[in-house]
Amino acid sequence: MKAKFKNGEYIAPVTPLGYKLHPTEKNRLIIDEETKWIVERIFELAAHGYGAKKICHALAKDKVPVPTWWLYKRNGYKASMFEGKPEEVKYRWCIQTVSGILANQIYLGHTVHYKLTKMSYKSKKNIKHSEDEWFVVENTHEPIITQDLWDLVQTHVNSRRRSRKNDEPQIFAGLIRCGECGWTLGSANTKDKGRFYRCTQYAAYGRNFCTLHYTPYKILYAFVLGRLQYWLMAVKENEDAILERLLQGSEKQRQSENARAEKELKKAQKRRQELNSLFAKMYEDRVKGFLDEENYSMLSVKYRTEQQQLDETVKTISAKLEETKEETDDARRWIDLIQKYSAIDELTAPLLNELIEKIVVHQSWKDGNGRTVRDIEIYYRFVGKID
Ligand SMILES: [Zn+2]
Repeated sequence: MKAKFKNGEYIAPVTPLGYKLHPTEKNRLIIDEETKWIVERIFELAAHGYGAKKICHALAKDKVPVPTWWLYKRNGYKASMFEGKPEEVKYRWCIQTVSGILANQIYLGHTVHYKLTKMSYKSKKNIKHSEDEWFVVENTHEPIITQDLWDLVQTHVNSRRRSRKNDEPQIFAGLIRCGECGWTLGSANTKDKGRFYRCTQYAAYGRNFCTLHYTPYKILYAFVLGRLQYWLMAVKENEDAILERLLQGSEKQRQSENARAEKELKKAQKRRQELNSLFAKMYEDRVKGFLDEENYSMLSVKYRTEQQQLDETVKTISAKLEETKEETDDARRWIDLIQKYSAIDELTAPLLNELIEKIVVHQSWKDGNGRTVRDIEIYYRFVGKID
């Protein structure tokens, strides 16, 4: 994740279903014969007018394994999702996965890149984001779906979208997760309650799998807007204090850990040098005949093992120290991101995606006075949970 943002480019974390990476050519996709049929099946069902939810049920009924399972089977990816879990987990398709596949131009043989909006640190105006944040490079690999089938499916998808009532832009799309099962929260509408979010696993598979996680859109909107306004104000008031505060959570601990790590590093480096002299001495002793062959080889093995362990230790500690430095850079980066807004009066998808990594919503409960208590956690980009 970090590297992705650092390079300012979009790198797909996993290969899309139906494809695998070329064994020798870097970043090149080839068709995966073992899973290609699943993609074809999903598009065919969609072409017959099935919506994403109905497709999920059809796939589950026919025991078609989900994309994550294929990755797990092949690379051990997300093993905790499947190991020791009931078999049906393997077939539990979620609406977002199916919709994602139906919208992915990768199946036409094109590669889609995500353009990160260029930021201007000096501008005091709100940055306007271009509508077109994606660009497509055509014919980069073999397609799975024909253009005709694609066009037909998109007509169905679009007519479904238009028929949805109260069609407001989905500004939280992809950001909200269920705090209990980790699936996304999906938006739904009722006449009396208006727009709200709920756990998509609950919506698709019912109470045996998760709970509703009923969250009114207005409440979520007000909460997130409030937090962002708070942070913007705080940063504008005293940037240095906020930087310190973002790092503070563990600042003392960080400092003592750093000191300890540095001490350990010095110790390891010193011992590494001692070993070099010991080796030289041992060799000398062997040549002079003070040390017999057996003892010589025994000591050699002993010292060499210690050398390897020390090298490993030095590597680990150095990496850890580097990571701490990165944390400071990340906090700095987030402050710069929020700073470029002069004010945050409304929430938009680009704003949310720029500042927030995810929003985790827990099942609400009633307190002693019968009031509903909600636990909503915002994980900001680069700095995580800071509220
Ligand atoms: Zn859930």
